[in-house]
Amino acid sequence: MTHPIIPTLILKPKREKSLVGRHPWIFSGAVNRAPGDIQAGDTVDVLAAGGRWLARAAYSPRSQIRARVWTFDRSEAIDAGFFDRQLQRALCLRKSILDPSETNAFRLVSAESDGLPGLIVDRYDRWLVCQFLTTGAEKWKATIVEALARRMPDCKGIFERSDVDVRKKEGLKPVTGKLWGDDPPDHIEIVENGCHYRIDVRKGHKTGFYLDQRDNRAWVAAHAAGAEMLNCFAYTGGFAVAALAAGAAWVVNVDASAGALDLAREHVSINDLNDRWVEYETGDAFSLLRQYADAGRHFDLIVLDPPKFVKSKGDLMRASRGYKDINRLAFMLLKPKGTLFTFSCSGLMGRDLFQKIVADAALDAGRRAVILRWLSQAPDHPTALSFPEGSYLKGLICRVD
Ligand code: SAH
Repeated sequence: MTHPIIPTLILKPKREKSLVGRHPWIFSGAVNRAPGDIQAGDTVDVLAAGGRWLARAAYSPRSQIRARVWTFDRSEAIDAGFFDRQLQRALCLRKSILDPSETNAFRLVSAESDGLPGLIVDRYDRWLVCQFLTTGAEKWKATIVEALARRMPDCKGIFERSDVDVRKKEGLKPVTGKLWGDDPPDHIEIVENGCHYRIDVRKGHKTGFYLDQRDNRAWVAAHAAGAEMLNCFAYTGGFAVAALAAGAAWVVNVDASAGALDLAREHVSINDLNDRWVEYETGDAFSLLRQYADAGRHFDLIVLDPPKFVKSKGDLMRASRGYKDINRLAFMLLKPKGTLFTFSCSGLMGRDLFQKIVADAALDAGRRAVILRWLSQAPDHPTALSFPEGSYLKGLICRVD
């Protein structure tokens, strides 16, 4: 059997440490010699300065992350069989951690943490929605789609939502549209812990829904009975529906997007929840929280789930002020013995820093509070131990005196 010659990428001396630890990224600064005549997304063998074979990776000439590892096993070829095996592993994990009677929507592939850098696949009922974020994933798109369709014969269609900014860093244009099978309907209805949601996979955020908050919606529900709740950064009302179904007495949903709140209204209605108990406020959460504080409004339960404030390391200071501001206002708005669910989905903000910001916010608001529980992303968004960057969502349940 003849093996194709794989171009080699050679690292600078002493730059192999992270790869030996199985971290999948090779930064441009670590590269001594890149192969000359290859296309973006092609497979390269990564060698240490001394010539030792380290990994097989996808080459990204335009990105600061110059290559992303497919495999650390020299005998493994990067071909249709490789993608099929990785998808099978990812599917196996989901089958073992999710109960199909609880939900029919989950993340099937979570990029690096599933050994498939640049690939996100979410399943909503009978449809799959994919994001191809890197040149490596882009190159293998047809192979991946074919493997997905074969592995999940009960799926009706596969849709692409690669309209994300990170593709620019790879020199890739945004793309959306049908990849295989039938066109998805305008809204795909999913069930999660007994609640129904309608997912707009064409225009919704990410691939349509915040699946990573599934377990945290259940935690909110567990604290919701009889509560007057403020659901800040509500999007399509996931936390609100979970809370109302669990007996919340009143919910105020705040979001900047009128379209997202329209869908939240629909979610309240399709779940047969009483809409007289629900308010919707379209606007800026920072100013609305301030208005509520000025007006002396108070809540038993507040959820703060802002968008990613930290886009780059340089943003951290400014973003920290933003997190502190909303958390300080939320602490001011809590009734005695009230509960705050506060989140950050910024991967660049560490858990320690987030906890410190929330502590400072409570101090400034003059509230004594304890942490009842640390929260994170649902387990269908796993984190490879060798890839701590995969752990991006963090949250705290805090109880004030
Ligand atoms: N909690 C939601 C997800 C929130 S995503 C869920 O579980 O489904 C963040 C949301 O914040 C988005 O819906 C976005 O429209 C909204 N948003 C962004 N900036 C905002 C601002 N300044 N004020 C209010 N909402 C904002």
